[in-house]
Amino acid sequence: MQTVAPAAARARNFFDSGATRPLAWRLVQLRNLRRMLTERRADIVAALGSDLGKHGTEALLTEIGFVTAEAAHLEKNLASWLRPRPVPVPLAVRPARAWTELTPLGVVLVIGTWNYPLQLLLAPLAGALAAGNTVVLKPSEHAPATSAALARWLPEYLPGAAEVVQGGIPETTALLAERFDHIFFTGGEAAARVVLRAAAENLTPVTLELGGKSPAYVDSSTDLSKAAKRIAWGRFMNAGQTCVAPDYVLATDEVLEPLQRELVKAIRSLFGPDSALSASYGRIVDDRHFERLAALADGSTVVHGGQRDAASLYFAPTLLRPAPGDTVMDEEIFGPLLPLVPVSGREEAIRIINGRAKPLALYVFSNDAETRRAFAEGTSSGALCFDVPAAHLMVPGLPFGGVGGSGTGAYHGEHSVRTFSHERASLAKPYWPDTLELIYPPYNKTKQRIISIISALVAPAGKLFKKR
Ligand code: NAD
Repeated sequence: MQTVAPAAARARNFFDSGATRPLAWRLVQLRNLRRMLTERRADIVAALGSDLGKHGTEALLTEIGFVTAEAAHLEKNLASWLRPRPVPVPLAVRPARAWTELTPLGVVLVIGTWNYPLQLLLAPLAGALAAGNTVVLKPSEHAPATSAALARWLPEYLPGAAEVVQGGIPETTALLAERFDHIFFTGGEAAARVVLRAAAENLTPVTLELGGKSPAYVDSSTDLSKAAKRIAWGRFMNAGQTCVAPDYVLATDEVLEPLQRELVKAIRSLFGPDSALSASYGRIVDDRHFERLAALADGSTVVHGGQRDAASLYFAPTLLRPAPGDTVMDEEIFGPLLPLVPVSGREEAIRIINGRAKPLALYVFSNDAETRRAFAEGTSSGALCFDVPAAHLMVPGLPFGGVGGSGTGAYHGEHSVRTFSHERASLAKPYWPDTLELIYPPYNKTKQRIISIISALVAPAGKLFKKR
């Protein structure tokens, strides 16, 4: 705990020194971050394997490679994103020049969770550094090996730029009592409320990257075999512990029957006849989550999978056919269970989705333009993807974030730079000709007439609300 205040103070002092503002400094940090991920790859892969049983290839794809690509994208585009943007000046204010400029916020606190313990800390870190801030990182206590690797390597590769505070709730609580210029939180709803309450004390702006139940709708116009493979990949990657994983499938009975058969085939093709023996299949993070998932499966109807081993935290890819009222449909699953839920058609699917908190992602597997349009116009979600789950994260130009219950704010690429910057309004008005003379008191009839003429020119009566 004694480490918290000094870490925050060091980050503040370094920011106050002005060292982080030049573009050159920011680019060096991004390059150093990529260098760390290359030079310390073996150490990081081993840590991810120890925390979550992550295969090296999956660690490369979804963690190390992901952050490397994000940093490279920021490096390539940062100069153009930081360029001041001119803004038109209305007649009444001319002559003048107006522009906006992205300016650093200061010290950013990034609180991460355990399911992608590297990506969910380092992708926001890259964005915050690109925006010219210093960062205090709080890794999850539930991924201790990755947390230790980051605490070891980040100060070496990013001296001054990033501080790492290890620990659990006491350390996070102590951090939240410090003053930051932005808090970026990834995790669950309960901790998000704690973060928001603490942020209110200092009026600190907050980004919340939360979760929830992300639905998938499948209809008969799609290729069920390909859809099943993609849904199984999205659901069972990282043993289901992915915030954007499809949480449940909605489809008509006539689609669910063949889809279930295709999902069983897909699970076999991804993880072999016994996923317990597959090095490509991950493990549940800890006993608490293992027990929670076991209770969800036992409280519903398992139609495939269900095998588990508490000692090794193995939980097989499992398909469920829930009955109304099963707990598995109440909360985010965050594990390798996939409920298949019958609906009468897309209208009922949309009603079900709209009856819950707004999802982080919504997946529609359909070739039918009308169905795609109905979901696009009739629902709200952080993201909407057609025929593929989770892949929107890999498009750096797309904002990643939730809406309502699934989160506030977004990041990745330019969206990160904007999240971690203040867009400052700037205006320069020459002293001559001094058009402001017109609006300075004392007022008189001549001034009133001129102002009326200008107002009429700027917003002619009757034209304001004219339909296009
Ligand atoms: P969590 O909310 O318990 O923990 C997240 C962080 O908050 C940790 O660093 C932890 O130390 C801290 N924390 C927890 N309780 C706290 C408290 N009372 N006071 C102060 N700090 C506290 O994480 P979790 O619930 O296990 O994470 C899973 C959730 O995260 C799921 O809902 C998942 O969907 C979501 N998630 C979202 C994203 C995203 O990018 N949107 C990514 C991954 C996970």
